[in-house]
Amino acid sequence: MRKPGTDETNVQMTDVLCDFCHRQWSEEIPMLEGHKGSCICGRCLRIAYTEVLLHKQSSAPAEFTCPMCLETTADRAELDRGDEPGWQSPMHEEAVICRRCIKLASGALHKDKAFDWSKPTIE
Ligand SMILES: [Zn+2]
Ligand SMILES: [Zn+2]
Repeated sequence: MRKPGTDETNVQMTDVLCDFCHRQWSEEIPMLEGHKGSCICGRCLRIAYTEVLLHKQSSAPAEFTCPMCLETTADRAELDRGDEPGWQSPMHEEAVICRRCIKLASGALHKDKAFDWSKPTIE
């Protein structure tokens, strides 16, 4: 997401906030962009991956729209993913990422050598 008042023609790093924890983008934390300027930071992604992919948990409400792909529950149902789990931010409950986006984002960050980020594993 963008900080309110961001100049869309001149977006700075500090204008970019994680949709899930509202942290500012900085050099230390990778940030992945979804649709319409939505973002998830590496820290939230790590928690989401651990809960949803590793522990098969879902904190998502029955109906949610994922800000990263903009798919609604109805969209997922049409694609036979109606019961897909997701991760709801404990800090901002309107922010829920679907499992597919967690997977895609983790795969992209994992491969990106610019960041020291790898997929979490069960300890
Ligand atoms: Zn975050
Ligand atoms: Zn999604």
